[in-house]
Amino acid sequence: MSGIGWVDRPRAVVGYMTVERVRGDMIDLRSDTVTTPDEAMREAAAEAPVGDDVYGEDPTVNELEKRAAERVGMEAALYVPTGTMGNQIAAQVHTEPGEEVLADVESHVVKWELGGFAVHSGLQLRTVDADRGIPTPGEVADAHVEADLHRPGTGLCCLENTHNARGGLANGPDRIAAAAEVAHDRDVPVHLDGARLFNAAVALNRSAAELVAPVDSVMFCLSKGLGAPVGSMLAGSEEFIERARRSRKLFGGGMRQAGVIAGPGLRALENVAELSADHENAAALAEGLEGIEGVAVRPPETNIVLVDVEGTGSSAEDAVGALREAGVLASRFGETTIRLCTHRDVDRTDVETAVDRAVGALA
Ligand SMILES: *Cc1c(COP(=O)(O)O)cnc(C)c1O
Repeated sequence: MSGIGWVDRPRAVVGYMTVERVRGDMIDLRSDTVTTPDEAMREAAAEAPVGDDVYGEDPTVNELEKRAAERVGMEAALYVPTGTMGNQIAAQVHTEPGEEVLADVESHVVKWELGGFAVHSGLQLRTVDADRGIPTPGEVADAHVEADLHRPGTGLCCLENTHNARGGLANGPDRIAAAAEVAHDRDVPVHLDGARLFNAAVALNRSAAELVAPVDSVMFCLSKGLGAPVGSMLAGSEEFIERARRSRKLFGGGMRQAGVIAGPGLRALENVAELSADHENAAALAEGLEGIEGVAVRPPETNIVLVDVEGTGSSAEDAVGALREAGVLASRFGETTIRLCTHRDVDRTDVETAVDRAVGALA
């Protein structure tokens, strides 16, 4: 298989995040990753003191790592280029090759990271179809594999909050703690894919630290709803982050004067409270779309709205196409499911316009 074919195939199959020529008046609800840096972030980029971060000498990156660790109540944090790299590093550090990773079948690490756990770290997956995306204590116990002469053993339990594919569900600390406790009882570490951790925190009115207290490591994205142009954080114990720093180098993720992107990342950490506006806009979007004949909307808990268009008689692909024609960009998320995300680059007026356009496009 040629390298180029390998890259082309998923774009054709998934139809999600394919390159779009975005029209000026398009309302882009494909993802909260489409946010562009605001003035404050551009200023932060311009003014950031920098150094060589691989030598640990970039003061802005060091500050970001310190602040990020504090925000989630962990000992240390590491700046990584992407959320995917953060999850992949975490899995590599927590496990030995051949081990199993226990995860929800709809989780990002299972569906959308190109089998990276197998490719990079020699891991295999054991998936659970978990209610709200977090396995129950019983499910963790049942899926756990004890290492013996024949079996590799479970090396990691990976949770996700908010849960993207299940519609941005915000799971509370009790559910996470219950799963983590069973894993820990069996000496299995727990990693949280918290790409949208702060959306969960804001929606539940809990601190991010409270949500991650039961787990051993967490990744969260600065580049989604928080609005930074680049970057994610991986946090955990000092020892874990020391090993993660080596693993990041192995992944090719050691960056040099990264302060120019870490500066906007620091500003992004100040945007946490504003996520509630995205959640309110998602609720308004859901309410508006629900009025369309044949459209079934999952009531959103955060900034992600999943819409089933089966009742309109069209496929998700056709619905995405019709919406694009009408000036709204959405993502195909299944045969008849599409995803719309609110974010800081769309306001209530944009959402109302999007609903008006969708009424014409989907009805
Ligand atoms: C976006 C996302 C990631 C990966 O982040 P990237 O920065 O796009 O690599 C991981 N997990 C979840 C749940 C996500 O939504």
